[in-house]
Amino acid sequence: MRHDDAGCEPSHDEKPTTLSRRELLSRVLMAGVLVPQDFGQRGRRSRRVVDPSQIPTYKYRTLPVTHFPALQAEFDRARKSATLSRAKPFVDQVSPLGFKIPADFQAAKSVVVVAAFVKPVYVNFHLDGSSYRILVPPQYYKDDMNSDALKGVVQKNIVQRAGSRVVDISERVPLKLLAARSGLGYYGRNNLIFVEGMGSYNLLYAFLTDEPFPETGMAQLEVLERCRRCDHCDRICPTACILRSNFIIDVDKCLTLYNENPGAFPNWLPASSHHALMGCMKCQSPCPVNGGIAELYGTLEDISEEETRKILNGAPDDPLLKTLQRKLRNFKGAQSRQLFPVLTRNLGVLVRSRV
Ligand code: SF4
Ligand code: SF4
Repeated sequence: MRHDDAGCEPSHDEKPTTLSRRELLSRVLMAGVLVPQDFGQRGRRSRRVVDPSQIPTYKYRTLPVTHFPALQAEFDRARKSATLSRAKPFVDQVSPLGFKIPADFQAAKSVVVVAAFVKPVYVNFHLDGSSYRILVPPQYYKDDMNSDALKGVVQKNIVQRAGSRVVDISERVPLKLLAARSGLGYYGRNNLIFVEGMGSYNLLYAFLTDEPFPETGMAQLEVLERCRRCDHCDRICPTACILRSNFIIDVDKCLTLYNENPGAFPNWLPASSHHALMGCMKCQSPCPVNGGIAELYGTLEDISEEETRKILNGAPDDPLLKTLQRKLRNFKGAQSRQLFPVLTRNLGVLVRSRV
């Protein structure tokens, strides 16, 4: 099945790896289910141009919740895999996830899985007469098409029944497994979910509802056919955690694991790997399936000299946090003080690397 219009036709006669298709799918499931979607210039030849107005704002699939036990069993098998990271931040992120019907919503009948198109943004940080244009991946700022907005969309455009209940469970379920098994997307070699028309530039959400939808079986687990004859993401990954031989990424080496969490960066992390205020998009931008989509971005409000200096000094006073909450569309409430040392460290590394 084609995944986009960029010429990534299935090529069933290619032999991408020595692994059988079953082994490949099994491995991508183990890794892809668990690695958060927060993960991300080469191969710029023949990039297509995409009319932004043709990119869907969102896409969705529904699944009856009667599939939850099977999904939970699949998730448990993946979680027990010996190949997965035992790093505490990763385990902490994965442990609370599962396919459970909340005690206060036993009448739930279906889950609506939504992929919203998202763009990265750039922010100019000013310092000592210079301007530092820094990338902020979509996971780290609040886009207009966020969970609150999508809940309304699900209620109005998908469920379409007054009085029905819709509950956001996006932070409680393994979203990538749900997206793959609902037929909404495919795994790529970089462990991200690709959705037709928006590539990997999507954020996933899940909503429970008491609305029954027509019965649908679970989709076959699929990987992008294009990955079988492509090496762009594994060649550009700054920490070499994407493997050519299979679809398991080495989470312990992924930049995101380190720049999202507090603490000193490990010595082995190359200084040149830092390129975003948080997270990493290196393995998404050169992907041919993202051609024409990866080139789209937004811009947030500039951060003044005084604000930049306060960030670098690690001095989070209340007016600054309030301003950053508005300008960076992040840093809400109590979370802002916890995140601040991460912001100070990450911005410091980026500024020093460009001096
Ligand atoms: S470190 Fe590698 S796998 Fe991780 S997000 Fe960056 S490019 Fe992707
Ligand atoms: S860059 Fe190539 S190998 Fe990586 S996800 Fe995209 S198509 Fe697959």
